[in-house]
Amino acid sequence: MNILVTGGAGYIGSHVGKKLAEAGYNVIVLDNLSKGHREAVKKGKLLVGDLADTGLLDRILEEEEIQGVIHLAADSLVGESMEKPGKYYRNNVANGLNLLEAMVKNGVKYIVFSSTAAVYGEPEEVPITESHPTHPENTYGESKLFFEKIMKRYDQIHGLKYVSLRYFNAAGADLSGQIGEAHDPETHLIPIVLEKALGIRDKLYIFGTDYPTKDGTCIRDYIHVEDLAAAHILAIEGLAAGLESRIYNLGNGEGYSVKEVIEVAEEVTGKKIEADIRERRAGDPAVLVASSEKIKKELGWQPLYPDLKTIIESAWRWHQGGGFGGND
Ligand code: UDP
Repeated sequence: MNILVTGGAGYIGSHVGKKLAEAGYNVIVLDNLSKGHREAVKKGKLLVGDLADTGLLDRILEEEEIQGVIHLAADSLVGESMEKPGKYYRNNVANGLNLLEAMVKNGVKYIVFSSTAAVYGEPEEVPITESHPTHPENTYGESKLFFEKIMKRYDQIHGLKYVSLRYFNAAGADLSGQIGEAHDPETHLIPIVLEKALGIRDKLYIFGTDYPTKDGTCIRDYIHVEDLAAAHILAIEGLAAGLESRIYNLGNGEGYSVKEVIEVAEEVTGKKIEADIRERRAGDPAVLVASSEKIKKELGWQPLYPDLKTIIESAWRWHQGGGFGGND
């Protein structure tokens, strides 16, 4: 089966592409390399291009005889999305729409979409199930929610079948050590904490200690990127086997505060990791913890590396190895 992975040179996309290829799929990656890394595409073919290019999308779907799409290409920074909302609506909604149009035109029926816990906003109850109301607090989450709604309409009108995976906090690195998280600039907590431990980052800031949580810092549900990647394979297999359109949460069901993440990282690295306190970051809900019972029950997904220590250990191995030839 020929699968197009948009954003396949990015952090999560590169893990998805590798796992797909290992499962025997023919992987075609489309990435504009604005954030992704050429070296992250370990298997399959890399096509460098942008979702804004409708002609290119048509050509790829036709010439590569694409049968299913895993769509991860997007801007994904909560903070930036509150400074540049237009960028998020354009890339995540309008350009994504180009992909759906090209799929309809070329008769491609299945899409697995990379969505986010940020669609929920501040939860009314945790763990969050898929039926929890959606009130995104930031543009990033809203752009992903818009796209889910568009896919629903495309299913109704064009019969396009989708699985939307609402990721909680992806973390860790491939256990082979070949690929891992390498954003530029880095904004995510775990890599920043590890860069501080390595001494290649001056300051680590905790964004807010006045949240209504046990220690005042935000609580998140960290999920190993390999477990996340495995869910994409189950989703595309499900769609090919006739699964109706679905939304699934993906997390471990356990929350850790920012301070706890730093403590576990100290344990893993054996180093004292100093942090300074800053004001809250705009758009951050206090607590995000998933219920992933639905995907476990319906697709048989099971996380293999649920505990935070294992997740941070895999990230630490990757960071110690220098990432893709350094901190980019
Ligand atoms: N965070 C922090 N300092 C940092 C980066 C992140 O305190 O340098 C906090 C952030 O406010 C959030 C949590 O760590 O509560 C996870 O943030 P991250 O950016 O990793 O993921 P997000 O939850 O935004 O997807």
